[in-house]
Amino acid sequence: MIEGYDVEVKLLAVTPEPENLIERAGRLCWDTQDKTGTQPDRIQKWLEIGHESMVEHACATFYIRASRVLTHELVRHRLASYSQRSQRYVREDEPRYIEPPEIIEKGDSGRRCFKNAMEVCWGAYQQLLAEGIKPEIARYVLPNACETQIICTWNFREIRQIIKLRTSKRALPEIRLVAGEIKRIVKEIAPQVFADL
Ligand SMILES: Cc1cc2nc3c(=O)[nH]c(=O)nc-3n(C[C@H](O)[C@H](O)[C@H](O)COP(=O)(O)OP(=O)(O)OC[C@H]3O[C@@H](n4cnc5c(N)ncnc54)[C@H](O)[C@@H]3O)c2cc1C
Repeated sequence: MIEGYDVEVKLLAVTPEPENLIERAGRLCWDTQDKTGTQPDRIQKWLEIGHESMVEHACATFYIRASRVLTHELVRHRLASYSQRSQRYVREDEPRYIEPPEIIEKGDSGRRCFKNAMEVCWGAYQQLLAEGIKPEIARYVLPNACETQIICTWNFREIRQIIKLRTSKRALPEIRLVAGEIKRIVKEIAPQVFADL
């Protein structure tokens, strides 16, 4: 659960010693390998002048459980590899959905309206399946709020881009929370690379 949204973000894998690898790549460009480890803000200085490609050598893989609203936005980030739970091959028998706290906070009538809508969607889904319709077609009645799971692999440059765009106040609250959690995690594993964010 992240600040009212019942979503999850877990780091599954990361390039070993990512900052060491990045510094090695950057220093190779200028033949300054002998200075490796002598300048704590070396990577930040490269990023400042737009010499960003060396941070692409490191990458991280995350597991995310969230709504399909969120993943629809997340997969717009193209420099990535994604594997998402299929609604074609997996039956969504249980009504699992993300309930935005913005609706819960508005009180009983908004919440009832939302829950009713979920019940209607899943009722129709089950009825279509019972009539022999395949899950890939029956899913047309499922809502955007439907819970999903996705595994995402991004290089550090793309993670920097996702953090910049998706932690902004203009971003959707759910993705803002997920991007905020990604930011917290990557700042722990590579503090130099993400120091300015
Ligand atoms: C607040 C907000 C509101 C949004 N609203 C909408 C909306 O209403 N409708 C909508 O369709 N989308 C919307 N988007 C999505 C947005 O347009 C981008 O598709 C999304 O944020 C992915 O980011 P990106 O373009 O930086 O691409 P990424 O795929 O993350 O790529 C990273 C970077 O690589 C470079 N790059 C990648 N692909 C190319 C390419 N083909 N050509 C040139 N350079 C490339 C760019 O420099 C890019 O910034 C919104 C995004 C935000 C944050």
